[in-house]
Amino acid sequence: MNKGTAVLRQQNEKKALRLLRTAGSLSRQEMAERLGLSKNTVSVIVQKWIGSGIIREGAPEDAGGVGRPRIPLQLVPGCFQAVGLVVGMSSIRYTVTDYGSLVLEENRRSVQGLSPEDYIEELVALCRELLERYPNVIGIGVAVPALLDPLTGRVLSSSHLEWKNIPLKERMDSQLPVPVLVLNNVKASAMAPVQATRLESGKSSFYMRIGEGVGGAILLNGGLYYGESWTAGEVGHLCVDREGPRCSCGRKGCLEALVCIPRVLEQLGHEGREWSDALGDGTMVAEGRFNRTLAEAGGHVGFALSQVVNLLNPHSVTIDSPYGRYPAFCDAVRKGFEDQALTVPASQTGFTFTHLPNASGTGAAYAVILEYEKE
Ligand SMILES: [Zn+2]
Repeated sequence: MNKGTAVLRQQNEKKALRLLRTAGSLSRQEMAERLGLSKNTVSVIVQKWIGSGIIREGAPEDAGGVGRPRIPLQLVPGCFQAVGLVVGMSSIRYTVTDYGSLVLEENRRSVQGLSPEDYIEELVALCRELLERYPNVIGIGVAVPALLDPLTGRVLSSSHLEWKNIPLKERMDSQLPVPVLVLNNVKASAMAPVQATRLESGKSSFYMRIGEGVGGAILLNGGLYYGESWTAGEVGHLCVDREGPRCSCGRKGCLEALVCIPRVLEQLGHEGREWSDALGDGTMVAEGRFNRTLAEAGGHVGFALSQVVNLLNPHSVTIDSPYGRYPAFCDAVRKGFEDQALTVPASQTGFTFTHLPNASGTGAAYAVILEYEKE
């Protein structure tokens, strides 16, 4: 087989794999039609995968007395796994999913005061343990709170971790038998709702996460848009009030400085605490003050999103934060948005409020699956 034919065959195999993952169960004929391939080509691919335990045939289904029975094909559960690691200051969180993004294992391991070199050794040791338990891992996604180059996997800088210019992918790739994909942690989180809502079908969307900081990601055609220097989607540093408080970036009035969790807790008189503790232990803030504070934050978020939507015109917006369960916040987001957004996108952009605290791990694992399927 010449090189061109081999590449073509591999591309067709990946397309077929992706189709079965997203569609669930199809016959050879249906696969051939959807992929625009001959039935013979599909049969060769399917035969190979049945032989290696990746695909299985279901029970034949009667075609109503006409023609031959339909034989449904499915991926074998657990045929492949993907790993997502989340690099944190005090712990590494890890998630193992199967090829359909079902979480098989999720846990964390403490790491304290390690140098970047020792931290990488710890990551590699954890990966080796996971690879021993899950022999069919296709890749490892590593989510890092950092500015990084996703192509080379080099971490340029991370103020959280105090890392600078670390060739993370290169170091890990050289010690592991499966490919490593390095992603910014917010960009990794943005992949989790894509998986859950099947946005990969081609719609564009904007994802915003409000936590200790505020970050975002632009998703085009189901994949991430990074920009020329990998900062596309940094919604936290849009200026929403030029007279506002000083931001961690040194500028004034950034969205992050106005609505991040530490700022809102401070306004509620609970500075320095965790959101879940401050609101879950009975020391709840007076309702009026609480609603006013969250409405103010929601107004800022809505204004920032109106600018994003006017510029990008995405199909939908996902806001991932612990505030989304409070109507005072959601109503203010919608109002702040509608006040400033152009009429057409204001009426057509779908909003989803969610809270996905472990999204970086599942998102990183999902990004590995998409990478594996790339042609
Ligand atoms: Zn800023």
